[in-house]
Amino acid sequence: MTRRIAFAGLNLESVTAVPQVSTLADFERVCFRGAEIPAQYRGTNTVAGGVLKVLEDAGAEMVPLFHSLLGALGPAEDAAIFAFADELARGLAASGPLDGLVLYLHGACWAPGFADVERTLIERARAAAPDLPIAVPLDYHGNVDAATFAAADIAVAYRHSPHIDMGETGERAARALLRMIETGARPGLAVARPGVVIPSILSATALQPLASLIDMARAEEAAGDCDISVMGGFAYADSANTGMSVICLDWQGQQAAEEKAARLSDALHAARVELSGAIPIWQMDDAIAEAARLRGSGAPVVILEHADRMNDSTHGLRAVLGADLGRVMVPFLLDPESAAAAHAAGAGADVTLNIGGKSAPETGGPLALTVRVLWSGEKRFTVSGRYQQGAPVDLGLTALVEVGEVRISLVSHFAFAVDGDPFFIFGERPEDYDVILLRSKTHFRDFYTPLAQAILVTDTPDLGPADVRLIPYRQFDTSGAYPWRP
Ligand SMILES: [Zn+2]
Repeated sequence: MTRRIAFAGLNLESVTAVPQVSTLADFERVCFRGAEIPAQYRGTNTVAGGVLKVLEDAGAEMVPLFHSLLGALGPAEDAAIFAFADELARGLAASGPLDGLVLYLHGACWAPGFADVERTLIERARAAAPDLPIAVPLDYHGNVDAATFAAADIAVAYRHSPHIDMGETGERAARALLRMIETGARPGLAVARPGVVIPSILSATALQPLASLIDMARAEEAAGDCDISVMGGFAYADSANTGMSVICLDWQGQQAAEEKAARLSDALHAARVELSGAIPIWQMDDAIAEAARLRGSGAPVVILEHADRMNDSTHGLRAVLGADLGRVMVPFLLDPESAAAAHAAGAGADVTLNIGGKSAPETGGPLALTVRVLWSGEKRFTVSGRYQQGAPVDLGLTALVEVGEVRISLVSHFAFAVDGDPFFIFGERPEDYDVILLRSKTHFRDFYTPLAQAILVTDTPDLGPADVRLIPYRQFDTSGAYPWRP
């Protein structure tokens, strides 16, 4: 008998303080439904791609409902969560006999009317299908606690940041779900919270001591029949369960799951001071001076404006324009207005634009610049880097503009500049630049660590500070989270 597994995905990483709300229309713009989902994601390094691979290899059928992966933006509007929760319940009810559900979520989606968006979606699925095994693949940056998964059977998250294992995470979720269905055995599922909050920039899983702590999870897995997800958490989503956590899925039962999760959580807590100071953070002026010093000595220097959250901050752009750094690329700056104005002026034209800085005052505000338009038009591509490899990206109306030796790509839709694509799509090469100004937090490391001669992580007075003590939490109780605070 062919197993029938429903699949649904709703994925947003929310910065609570970003004023731009992610609306239902925003989710709809990137939403695929039904047969579009396997058509878009089969063979890609994405959760949907991984789930599909395992199900098809096992002779099971995916019953695709919806898949909307919005990325890292502001809060979701409540109406969007209600709409997808309703659609999930309706879809489960209308799909005929089902054997399981894979519900792909982020973990740090935040909407004002919900204490825990992911918990709400899982509970809604459970209410619609009381006896259905439910597996939840998650982002490593999810904020979760035991209550999040009270109505789920299985939860697993990415093990790497950069998230180069999205496909494998889908595979782990689907394999565990099929195992539960075939054997009738429900695994133990535990979540432990160490009371540690780290900024995204320090959540890269190759950094020490984080890498060694994550290795402990792999050792536990080798010793027992379990799947452990060390969660980096997401400092900028303000909820009662903000911060790191450990999820243990254990086929030896609930007690084993609780013990292993607690053991690893204790180790994270013990390492909290080291976790909070894993890499040097530069002031922008010092980073510019260092980039100028390194200029001409080979590979590009990456300056990382990590505190930017909407891909439109101008602190870094202002700094590189005011310095003599050689050839500079500023990829995927989100500014639909400027992209449209550049497109209206046309390739070859000089046009004065108010670039960037429109999403919030903390971004540094718009920058009035007269630029030469090099190219403009609609831009779509599929990801070439390992992070989301093969997934479709739609930048909307896009313009490549130049001022002096600084080139800026202005895009109409939020997109991650984490690999070579921001260069390749214009027929360019990153190696031909002296400085590349990125806004990524960890995902850039997979492509740029081998490419760059230096990565200078800078802090700017923006919405995603490296010092998490600057975040004005309302929901999250910080009293237990900063035991190392002087
Ligand atoms: Zn993430």
